[in-house]
Amino acid sequence: MATLTQSDSCYTEQFGPTLSFAPAGGWGSRQPDKLVKTHCCFCGVQCGIQLKVSDNKVVGFEPWEEFPVNQGKLCPKGVKRYLQNDHPDRLLTPLVRTDSGFRAATWDEALSKTVAAIKSIQGKFGKDAFAFLGGASMTNEKAYLNGKFARLALQTANIDYNGRLCMVSAGAANRMAFGVDRAANPWSDIPLAKALLITGANIAECFPILTDHVWRARDHGAKIIVIDPRITPIARTADLFLPVRPGRDSALANGILHVMIERGWIDEAFIAAHTHDFDKVRALVAKYTPALTERITGVPAASIVKAAEIWGPAETSMLLHARGIEHHTKGVENVLTYINLVLATGRIGKPGCGYGTITGQGNGQGGREHGQRCNQLPGGRDINKPEHREFIAKFWGVPEPELPKQGLTACEIMDAIERGEIKGLLSISFNPLVSIPDASRTRAALEKLEFLGCIDFFLSETARHADVVLAGSLQEEDEGTVTTGEGRCVRLRNSVSPPGDARVDWQIICDLAARLGNAAAFNYARPKEIFDELAAASKGGPIDYSGMSYERLEQNFGIFWPCPAPEHPGTPRLFEGGEFHHPDGRAKFHAFDYRPPAEDVDAQFPLFFTSGRVVSQYLSGTQTRRIGALVEQYPEPLCEMHPRLAAKLGVKDRDLVRVSTRRGEITVPAQVVTSIRPDTVFVPYHWPGRKSANLLTNRALDPISKIPEFKVCACKVEKVADAPAQPARQFPARSQRAASTR
Ligand code: SF4
Repeated sequence: MATLTQSDSCYTEQFGPTLSFAPAGGWGSRQPDKLVKTHCCFCGVQCGIQLKVSDNKVVGFEPWEEFPVNQGKLCPKGVKRYLQNDHPDRLLTPLVRTDSGFRAATWDEALSKTVAAIKSIQGKFGKDAFAFLGGASMTNEKAYLNGKFARLALQTANIDYNGRLCMVSAGAANRMAFGVDRAANPWSDIPLAKALLITGANIAECFPILTDHVWRARDHGAKIIVIDPRITPIARTADLFLPVRPGRDSALANGILHVMIERGWIDEAFIAAHTHDFDKVRALVAKYTPALTERITGVPAASIVKAAEIWGPAETSMLLHARGIEHHTKGVENVLTYINLVLATGRIGKPGCGYGTITGQGNGQGGREHGQRCNQLPGGRDINKPEHREFIAKFWGVPEPELPKQGLTACEIMDAIERGEIKGLLSISFNPLVSIPDASRTRAALEKLEFLGCIDFFLSETARHADVVLAGSLQEEDEGTVTTGEGRCVRLRNSVSPPGDARVDWQIICDLAARLGNAAAFNYARPKEIFDELAAASKGGPIDYSGMSYERLEQNFGIFWPCPAPEHPGTPRLFEGGEFHHPDGRAKFHAFDYRPPAEDVDAQFPLFFTSGRVVSQYLSGTQTRRIGALVEQYPEPLCEMHPRLAAKLGVKDRDLVRVSTRRGEITVPAQVVTSIRPDTVFVPYHWPGRKSANLLTNRALDPISKIPEFKVCACKVEKVADAPAQPARQFPARSQRAASTR
């Protein structure tokens, strides 16, 4: 297993996003048979990378300097991603459960068992008693296929995806404000901004290469405001840091807008010509004086005024937000209150002016566009709109009434399993046992299923509960497209074929569909045919890919949607000329009064608990917990707490602490740091079992997006034991690694 490189050390010491590639020939010791230009398999930046391939194995990488977004730079995950290929844990064959555990099976046996279970459960309990869960790290082609498979082959309403835990608050808010769900700007607009407002986005750890764009803006004179309960790496170079109390984000945005209106830093002409409902917002925020806002948010009034002074009169500006404001029972409201700050200035649809919704999952954007959500059909169409249903039903050649209606979201599916209403589940590239809040309930629910099938490349914690595991494909073992967080659809090129008897995911789905009697509708020879079909299905829809082709994507370093015709150049920047995507062309303000989180602190649970990521891990850790060099950077979850809180609790650095909420408890080492609010503790969520942060989190949902409230609940912390005199594992000092965050 590889060890830390010089480049990793540079990164962790400086909290920087970029790595230089000093070794001639790139990383990986073996000489390659070929270099394949493709993209990183992790976050939504989707950095370009060249994989070195030898004997049908990925053996290293070289920078792909021509790809404009990262220009050859990669973060620690990107540098090590090649080590997942040829990993000893790779699933090489289907598995079926026996009384004594799993045994290898033939594809015929595993597929037959799966189809028999589907038919049996649906025959006894109805079509909707069998659910399907997809993933947002999968390609656009697979996202489309998942939706089509659920609606045509399974004929179930209950399909959703793990982006429900990630991007849906932002997506819903974007549609409500602008009529379309996409970042407004290419990332290349970030360096053109003179003010950056970064809220709930730990860019350096969750979207590391974007830090480079932020720093370029700073080098050009931009003022940077960061809002977060923790001093994240990006906050350390900010001009202004606002340490918001968890769950109070909308109040803070309202307070900043209050000052902007008072000082006259709003664009009345733009508001009158291009928006609706500003008067409602103006009336609402009148009461959000700096003093009141300070009382709600814990942010000093002077800092609230200062934020308005930076943002209000700026010549150009960009808002960047992520899960920190979105993982709430009011996640949609939070995003909309920050969008109000953008619309009020009229600084949108111009170079260096707009907003970006940063996507944490590799295909967080495309994964939510092509129909694998319970409320969506291909092309971003609404499953509840008759004309959208008619279009897709006709496209797929089925009567419209046969298309299932809107089903349950991911967490609601888990709740329905718990209630005994859903009896069977097929899950692909989704690890709900680690990812969904209140993990004890998730475990109990999975154990109630009559049948669980998983398609995956490693045996995830969820797959260990399965009756059948279908050995699928890693990103480099297939081809297709993904759509980056800026809305750019790019090509993933096939590097190697799946090892052993493993198969590419889309073939597994098509095989299952054929055995369910739908062979004709799932007859594809290669992913290109699926892409051409999804592009045609999107024509005229809110998310239009119909002018794209694999050839055009390759010639242009990807294409931004909407791209409605083969000669259309794509649309890197939305809303130019103040034209928004609502039918009347206007954007909408939304007035939301602050309301508290679903579970606030009290005498019994007096501390805020929040969770998130660390730079070396990705999502539920199925991939990154298997890459030794990434594990070494952060071997197990730590509980970050402020020295003042630690002193109150009698806790020293590395002492074992028990963190408890109304749902469960975990025992982990403390990490005493000055970079977190004294009333808040943080634990990253990438680990399973007794150290799973999601044993603690609250499954309360946003009423619109149905995202769970990962980012705030109430907890208590107690010391359990002194730090070991000789720690079995050495952790990097706080100053030597990028701070973990949400
Ligand atoms: Fe780029 Fe994200 Fe991969 Fe890091 S994890 S190399 S930032 S795509």
